[in-house]
Amino acid sequence: MNVLNFGKKPLLIAGPCSVETEEQVIQTAIRLKNTGKIDILRGGIWKPRTRPGAFEGVGKKGLPWLQKIKELTGLPVAVEVAKSEHVELCLEYGIDVLWIGARTTVNPFAVQEVADSLKGVDIPVLLKNPINPDLSLWLGGMERLQNAGLTRLGAIHRGFSFSGEKIYRNRPHWQMAIDFKTELPDIPMINDPSHICGRRDLLLKVAQKAMDLNFDGLMIESHISPDNAWSDAAQQVTPEDYATLIDALVIREYDPKDVKEKTKLDRLRKEIDMIDDEIMNILASRMKIAREIGAYKKDNNMTILQTERWKEVLQKFIERGCQNGLSEEFITRIIKSIHDESIEQQESVMTSE
Ligand code: PEP
Ligand code: MN
Repeated sequence: MNVLNFGKKPLLIAGPCSVETEEQVIQTAIRLKNTGKIDILRGGIWKPRTRPGAFEGVGKKGLPWLQKIKELTGLPVAVEVAKSEHVELCLEYGIDVLWIGARTTVNPFAVQEVADSLKGVDIPVLLKNPINPDLSLWLGGMERLQNAGLTRLGAIHRGFSFSGEKIYRNRPHWQMAIDFKTELPDIPMINDPSHICGRRDLLLKVAQKAMDLNFDGLMIESHISPDNAWSDAAQQVTPEDYATLIDALVIREYDPKDVKEKTKLDRLRKEIDMIDDEIMNILASRMKIAREIGAYKKDNNMTILQTERWKEVLQKFIERGCQNGLSEEFITRIIKSIHDESIEQQESVMTSE
C-alpha cells in the first residue's frame, strides 16, 4: 500500500453510502472507530443517481460534519468527486482522500476535469471501475490522473452492470480487475463488495474472494441504521456487523513461508503450465482442422454453419463436462467461444482467393 502511503494491507475503508445528517455520519464514524477495524472513513456528499428524484446528497453542508469526524476520531475522510467544483470544496474543507465513482469513470471529459483541478495537489485519489466492463476506460482514467502528476493513486473494483439473471447487483468480472493489476501492478486494488453485491448477505463471500486474489484493501458501506439509509439500504451493515465481517475474513499469505510448501506450490504451478501448453497446442490443432473443413466447404459450396452438427457438439461437450464436475455454464461458454473462433477461421479460408 506504499503508493497510497497508508502503509497497511488490507487497507480498510468503511462508512455510509451517503452522508445524511450530522448525527448519522458522526455516530457511524464513532462506532466504526470503536471497532478498531477502519483506516479511512468514507461518505458520499454528492450522489450521482441513475434516476433523478432519488436522494442526491446533502452537498457542501455535509463537509464540516466530516471535518468534525476527523477531530473526534482522528480518521482520514474520503469523499466522491465528479467535477472540479467538488474537488475545490473538498480541498477547502481538508478532505483527505477523494474517489471517482463508476458513473464518472465512463466519461473521459469528467475524469480529465477532475484530474486538471488536482494539478499540483498530491492527494490520494481512488478510481472506481467504469459501469461497463471496459478495461481501457478504467486504465485510461488512471493515466489521466497520473498525467496530472498524482502519485498516491488506487483503483476500486465495484463490479460491472449487466442485464439478465442477477445474483449480484453488479457482476464482479474478477478477470478485469486482474487484467488491470497486470497492466498497472503498482496501483493498489481495493474491492468494494457493497456495490458488487447490492445485498448484505453476500458481502463476506465477495470480500473473502478479493482477499484470496491478493487485493490490497476493501471499501464497505456501513450505516448506524442500514434499513433506513437514504441510499443503498439493502447493502449497508451496522458498524458492529461490519466488524464481524472483517473478523471472519481469512487473510492468507501471498507466498508460503515454509520451504517445503513453496516447493509443492512450484511443482503444482509447473503442472498447470504444462497443461496450459497442451491446451494451446490442442486449440491450434483444432483450428488447423477447422481451416481444412473451411476449404472443403468452399470446394463443395456448403454453408459454414451446419446447425445439426453444432447442436451435437454442444450437447456432447455439456454431457462430458458435467460428468467431469465442470459447470454447464462454464462448458457452454468455452465451447461457444471455441466454435466462434472456428467459424472465423473457416470464414477467412472461404473468403480468400
Ligand atoms: C458509492 O460509492 O456510493 C457509489 C455511488 O458507488 P459506484 O460509483 O460504485 O456506483
Ligand atoms: Mn452506495
